[in-house]
Formats: sequence, C-alpha cells, structure tokens
Amino acid sequence: MNAAVPHGDGSAVAVVARGASAPDAPAAAPVRAASAAGKDALGSNFLRTVIADDNRSGKYDGRVVTRFPPEPNGYLHYGHAKSIVLNFGLAAENGGVCHLRFDDTNPLKEDVEYEDSIADAVRWLGYDWGTHRYHASDYYDALYRYAEWFIEQGLAYVDSQSALEMRRTRGTLTQPGSNSPFRDRSVAENLDLFRRMRAGEFPDGAHVLRLKIDMGSANVNLRDPAIYRIRHAAHHRTGDAWCIYPLYDYTHAISDAIEHITHSICTLEFQDHRPLYDWVIGKLADGRELDRPLPQQYEFARLNLTYVVLSKRKLIELVEKKFVDGWDDPRMPTLVGARRRGFTPEGFRLFNERIGVTKSDSWIDMSVLEDAMREDLNQRALRRIAVLDPVRLVIDNYPADATEDCHAPNHPQKPELGKRALPFARELWIERDDYTETPAKGYFRLAPGAEVRLRYAYIVRCIGAERDAAGNVTVIHCTYDPATRSGTAGADSRKVKGNIHWISAAHAVAAEVRLYDRLFAVPFPGARNPWGNRSADAPAALPAGHAPVVAGDDDEPGEEAERDYLDDLNADSKRLITAFVEPALVGAAPEDRVQFERHGYFVADMLDHSARHPVFNRAVTLRDSWTKTGG
Ligand code: ATP
Ligand code: MG
Repeated sequence: MNAAVPHGDGSAVAVVARGASAPDAPAAAPVRAASAAGKDALGSNFLRTVIADDNRSGKYDGRVVTRFPPEPNGYLHYGHAKSIVLNFGLAAENGGVCHLRFDDTNPLKEDVEYEDSIADAVRWLGYDWGTHRYHASDYYDALYRYAEWFIEQGLAYVDSQSALEMRRTRGTLTQPGSNSPFRDRSVAENLDLFRRMRAGEFPDGAHVLRLKIDMGSANVNLRDPAIYRIRHAAHHRTGDAWCIYPLYDYTHAISDAIEHITHSICTLEFQDHRPLYDWVIGKLADGRELDRPLPQQYEFARLNLTYVVLSKRKLIELVEKKFVDGWDDPRMPTLVGARRRGFTPEGFRLFNERIGVTKSDSWIDMSVLEDAMREDLNQRALRRIAVLDPVRLVIDNYPADATEDCHAPNHPQKPELGKRALPFARELWIERDDYTETPAKGYFRLAPGAEVRLRYAYIVRCIGAERDAAGNVTVIHCTYDPATRSGTAGADSRKVKGNIHWISAAHAVAAEVRLYDRLFAVPFPGARNPWGNRSADAPAALPAGHAPVVAGDDDEPGEEAERDYLDDLNADSKRLITAFVEPALVGAAPEDRVQFERHGYFVADMLDHSARHPVFNRAVTLRDSWTKTGG
C-alpha cells in the first residue's frame, strides 16, 4: 500500500509496504530523494514530538535517557547507524544521555571482538556514551533476584515440558494456547527447582522458567513467556558463573528500568512485545522493586535500503564465502566498510535526517544515501587530479626540457583553502576517452583538429595521433598557444568548449585505484521481482493474487525469497586499476578524502595506502549513474 507519510521535514515520501503485511499490495518504487525545500533543517518526527511532550508535562523531570542496545554478535551495518543516530541524536538534542548497552544474553554467539568493533563504530559516527557503557550481563544478579521475586509472587513457574510440547501448547495467532501441566507448581517447589537449575543440577533444556501471565491471551508474547533457560556454556564476560541465562524480553525491559531509561526506542517488530515489556517492569514497580516513572518503549520502522542486504545471516555468508574481502570491504553495508570506503559520519547523519523516522516499513533507495555522502564530501574533500585511464599527450611546440607550475584551487567554493602547484611539461597523461577520431555530435573534447583547454593551463590543438600495431592510440600530438595560459589576460581571448584534466608524465605518480560500485546489481536482491515496480502508480506486472516478494533483511515468514540473492551480485562492483595521480597526493594521509576532478570522491585507503604505494578507494562517483531518467 502506498501512503504519504509525514517526512522529517514535513514533506511527504513514498512509502512501500512489504509483501507480508499487505499481501495485495504492489511494490512501489523505493524512496528516491527527499523534497528540496528546507530538507536539511531539523524537522519534526513522532519521537521528537513525544519527547517534547514529556518535557513539557514533566513526566521525567526533563530527563532524556536513551540507549543503543546492540547484541555483540556481529558488525554494525547502515541500519544500526539509523538507530545510533536516532538514539544518540535525540539524547543530544535534549541535553540528555544515551547509554551504550551490550545486550549479551546469548553466551554462544557473542564475542569481545565484536564489542570493540561496535564501540569503535559508534565513536566513529561521532557519539560519546561518556561513562554509560553497560552490559546486560552486569544485571545478571539483579535479573536472577527479580526472577525469584516473580516466583514468590506466584507470577512465575518452572516448566518441565519439552521444547516440542511447549511449542505445541503455545497455540497459534488465531487459537489460544493451553496451560502447562506444571503451571500450578507451588512457590516452594518452583523456588527449589529454579535454584537447582542455577546450581547446575539439570542438563540444557530440562526446564525453563516462565512468567505466569495468560495462555489465552490474543498476544502470543503474553502466553507465559520463558524468561530463563539452562545453557551450560561459558559467557565471554561472566565465564562459568552461570549456567542459566535470561531471555531477551525480560532482560531488556529490566535493564532499561535499572538504567532509568526514559525513552526506549526499538524497531517495529517489537511492537507486539511492548505489552510484555510493560507487564514485567509494571509488576516490579507495583511491588516496589523498581522506581517509577518507568521507561516507555516506542517503535520505529527499520531501515530497508535497496541494492544491499542488511541481514546478519547474509552479511556473514558474503564474508565467509568470500564474495567480499572481509567485513570492512568498502562494498559491505557495514560501518567498518563505510569508513574504509570514504563515507563520512556527517553523511550518515544527513542521510538519516532526510529519510526521517516513521512507523511504517518502507524502502529507501541507495541513491539517497549516496547523495548525502556526495553532498558532505563536496564540502570537505580537496580537489585533486587523477588520470584513471591514461594515454600520452605530447605538445610538439613546447620545449622538451622545460617545466612550469600551473596553479589549481584546492576547493572551488573555498578560496581560503588556497591553491597548489601542478607541474606542466611537454609530455602529459590525459584520459583515453578525452580523445576520439570520430567525434559524435556534442563531443567537445580532443579530436583531430579540435581545440580544448587543458584545465588550469593552456589551450591546445590536436594535430594527430600515433597507433600501435593493434590500432590502439598510443600518443596524441598537439600544439599549444602560449598566449592562453589560465589566469592571464589571454586566457579568455578565445573560447573553447572542452576542458580536460592532465598530469605531467614526468611528475605523475602511479597509484592503485579501487573503483567500487554497488554490491548488488538490482534494488531487491533475491526477490522474485528484483527490480520491484518502477513507479509508485503503475502496479507491478505480477500475476493476480501474487504479492510481490521482497527479500527482506530478516527473512520474515511469507517473505522468503524465491531466488538466491547471491545471483544478484554486481559483477562490476570492484575494479582494480593503476592510475596516475598528481604529486600532491603522495602526501595524503590514510583516510584523507579527496575529489578526483571529473571522476568522483576517493579516500586514501586506511590500511594499505602509503607514500610509497598510494592506494585510493572510490567512495562515490560525482553523479548518479544508476537512477534511470524517468525511472
Ligand atoms: P539480531 O537478529 O542479532 O538481534 P539486529 O539487527 O536486531 O540483529 P542488534 O544488535 O540487536 O541487531 O541491533 C541493535 C539495535 O539496532 C536494535 O535496537 C535494533 O532494533 C537496531 N537495528 C537493527 N537493524 C536495524 C535497521 N535495519 N534499521 C534500524 N535499526 C536497526
Ligand atoms: Mg536485535
């Protein structure tokens, strides 16, 4: 279903509901661009409104405490950046704090290596949790104590059914569940069993501790959810101290309350868990075990982005099967990958401000992210010259042993950043496609007899070219007009339409350049209709009764892809070339971002670049070559 949903800036963006939630809905084109008007001001969104209301009513005495709660079981991706920018951003806007809390309740999948990488990524995005770095495992003692409290209140019991039996008696979305035969155990028996679970007397799976809520509830999350299970496994922080571990919903609600979180912001799939969240901490507050006011949970739509996948399972597969060069491959939608690609934290913030926060699922087109990066890089990147596909140009009437310095601005919109010298000489490198012998209409660059300006230098006229035995152009010959040097009075005496870049062959430095592009060749990798629907108005050309299948990031039921997403990888997503770059680039430090004029934004590789072996990664081209006009 296409709906106009208020955008962060008050404009409307097209929103695409996903197949599972709206089976009769055609997929519309993903959001391509925000409206131009006032798009970068801090707009309103429902979370800003909630917080402003709470501040006005004094619900939390003006405190704003949010949290970002990653599970340390993988690297953060662009979707997490949305959550980070939201949580840390809302806190900062309101003079509050955002906690970094590692949600480390699963001892089998977690690792300290991931924790370090997560903390680095949050810091890289520009946020600071101060002293508020926590772990769910910090609360294991409290969580255990509260579990005993629930047992003592008659609100929890040890269930000894098998996992299969529990699944069978849970009911379905349309049918209620049925009570466990162990539901009416006495408080004393429950306490005894739970303590023996903790003491390690039982094997994995023998018992679980469940809340006693309502097996007939319409909300399956309230059908006596399990809150503790037996896991004889060492935890990366608590070691062998525990062989029972608390489950997510229980842990999360109590962790929020212990930390006095005010606004607990999570993604939409937790909407149906909110009654359980409220139940757990509400009961504890009623029993004076927790203080009011309690945190309130709010849900927002997760980021879905075209031309990538954001599911952890798929990202792991891409790395393990070596479709990419690791987690920090610049094509990966991870934050370590983004950094290595030359994307900027400010670009992510701009992107998130533009896409806004909504309560219904939608798809954002990759071009919106790339545009945000372009816009930020345009501000901060110094201009430099690189010739990516070099061919030699000889200026026959220029002295063989002479050189002179031409001067090029470091940033055309920022004269205060000065200029640098570009050595000019008789032999230059230019781009191969800046010369042709069969110029099409509108081609204003070099061709036999044609004139162009060598940017920041002279006007030259082409007088011929040499070819090798295979017919490839090897040398282009020109003559120059000494009266036309840029910056002199004669520069404007003659108008030419073409303006090409060049590097003196004697001064050029060879560099490894990695031309990265989108990792997938289609907007919806793995979807039955991987191109989606090109227009929001025209229905997709799908057989009647077929919902468009979208390869969602979490493989939710009903959204299983019919095709293998790996078949949609872009074969041209990485191209390695040797280019010539201007001498000033030898001094680039790793992670310096520059614009290669006429090509795009590049970054000196943070790991492999050195003055001796310069390596530049392409972050993004100057213009979007993916969005088809009229598409
Ligand atoms: P898992 O399946 O392991 O839970 P996850 O993607 O939810 O995977 P977490 O580490 O639990 O990863 O996520 C931390 C926070 O980031 C959560 O609050 C989660 O809601 C949020 N988050 C994850 N993916 C997205 C996304 N695509 N858009 C916005 N927020 C996201
Ligand atoms: Mg999660």
